Amino acid sequence: MAITVKNPIVEMDGDEMTRIIWKMIKEKLLLPHLAIDLKYYDLGVRHRDETDDRVTIDAANAVKEHGVGVKCATITPNAARVKEYNLKQAWKSPNGTIRSILDGTVFRKPIIVKNIPPAVRSWRKPISIGRHAYGDIYKSVEYKVPNAGKAELVFNPVSGGDKVTLPLHEFKGPGVIMGMHNTEKSITSFARACINYALGEKSDLWFGAKDTISKIYHGFFKEVFDREAEAKKAEFQKFGIRYRYMLIDDAVAQIMKAEGGMLWACMNYDGDVMSDMVASGFGSLGLMTSVLVSPEAKYVYEAAHGTVMRHFYEHQKGNPTSTNSVASIFAWTGALSRRGELDGTPAVVQFARRLETIVVETIEAGTMTKDLAAIAEPKPGKYALTEEFFDTVAKQL
Ligand code: NAP
Ligand code: MG
Repeated sequence: MAITVKNPIVEMDGDEMTRIIWKMIKEKLLLPHLAIDLKYYDLGVRHRDETDDRVTIDAANAVKEHGVGVKCATITPNAARVKEYNLKQAWKSPNGTIRSILDGTVFRKPIIVKNIPPAVRSWRKPISIGRHAYGDIYKSVEYKVPNAGKAELVFNPVSGGDKVTLPLHEFKGPGVIMGMHNTEKSITSFARACINYALGEKSDLWFGAKDTISKIYHGFFKEVFDREAEAKKAEFQKFGIRYRYMLIDDAVAQIMKAEGGMLWACMNYDGDVMSDMVASGFGSLGLMTSVLVSPEAKYVYEAAHGTVMRHFYEHQKGNPTSTNSVASIFAWTGALSRRGELDGTPAVVQFARRLETIVVETIEAGTMTKDLAAIAEPKPGKYALTEEFFDTVAKQL
């Protein structure tokens, strides 16, 4: 008997190899077991082109309405893709469009499998990373100083008040300058999204910055985080989780000795660097999930990897592929269990958890795709093709 999913999930289809995997997930793993209302948006690059990218905006608005979405990887067209797909123009990144409409923060979380050992021995639970996606060096103004001169920082208030001029440096010769900024609105959104995520996952929240050196800039981030966490103190206590502010170097040192299980909130640059370190430390892009969380607690789940173009070209030539579908499957289970929690339908949450357990156990029993077979301990005798992996999981379901 099918399990009923009470409220709709917004489904965003995508491109290339992940589009093929997407169809298999629905046909082999989900639709035989669930009565579900999927609000379908085709974000495949051809349909985005046909609709002048309207479909991406419609999908993001649908997530605002329904609260939960799941997204397949999509092509962000560059010049080569414009030619390949004969597009009207190089449309913007769908993820960027969705992120700016929902004002969300992206969290990445690895899937832990016993026979894929992490590079860091103590990591037994997933480490999630939340990266602030606005400002700092990513929206900075830089200047290469040619010769001796005086550099200043100037602020002109719009509504009265005095102009502020701060001395930056008196150059005796050539050098370099950078001015960067952030906004209270963006930092507050980021802090709230991190707090929502930590409460949703019932995990500790770590935030690291360097407020001992950057007393005002980094200090402001700390101030906002402390204030927002304080406002949710009762909920943190209810779930038995902690908010910790640490100096960024202390956070890095402690992560390498921790067993995991926390959300690590990072300023923009730290998140750029640390998310790649954590991702490769846990093994494979095929095991990395990603979720966009808005300050109003709207969610879009996806795999962290792209459309796996090289495998798709092989597939098109009629060659067998061994593409890892795990992160895409977990995008669906993430959306389903969030839907189930919001709807108060435990059977939906249980179905999602069971599917996750079966996927992990399938790999632990030795059936895995080529990317994992290369790093598994012990190594399996052979690797599974894309569809073979699905069939093994479907049989267990
Ligand atoms: P990619 O799709 O992440 O794949 C890069 C390489 O990583 C693959 O060629 C493959 O290595 C390995 N890989 C990634 N995911 C895998 C999986 N599930 N199973 C097995 N191997 C996996 O990145 P890309 O090829 O550079 O980009 C392709 C397209 O994806 C681009 O058009 C880009 O715009 C788009 N993209 C979309 C998103 C998104 O929608 N969130 C994110 C990133 C990129 P081997 O070839 O060595 O097997
Ligand atoms: Mg990076």
